[in-house]
Amino acid sequence: MITCGLCGQEFADLDRCPACAMAAGFGPNRQSPFASGTLWAMAGALAAIYAATLAVVVITR
Ligand SMILES: [Zn+2]
Repeated sequence: MITCGLCGQEFADLDRCPACAMAAGFGPNRQSPFASGTLWAMAGALAAIYAATLAVVVITR
């Protein structure tokens, strides 16, 4: 159960509040958008871009 931030009504884990149709968004009972490895995938992509740029700089100077 999550509590609507606008009208305070509790409802099941839906996308929107059934009473006022406000989107739930972030909250204490919402799961993190960075769960299931998304954060590590972004960190890996950043490290790959860094390594590629470093290689280009080392080769071309
Ligand atoms: Zn509501």
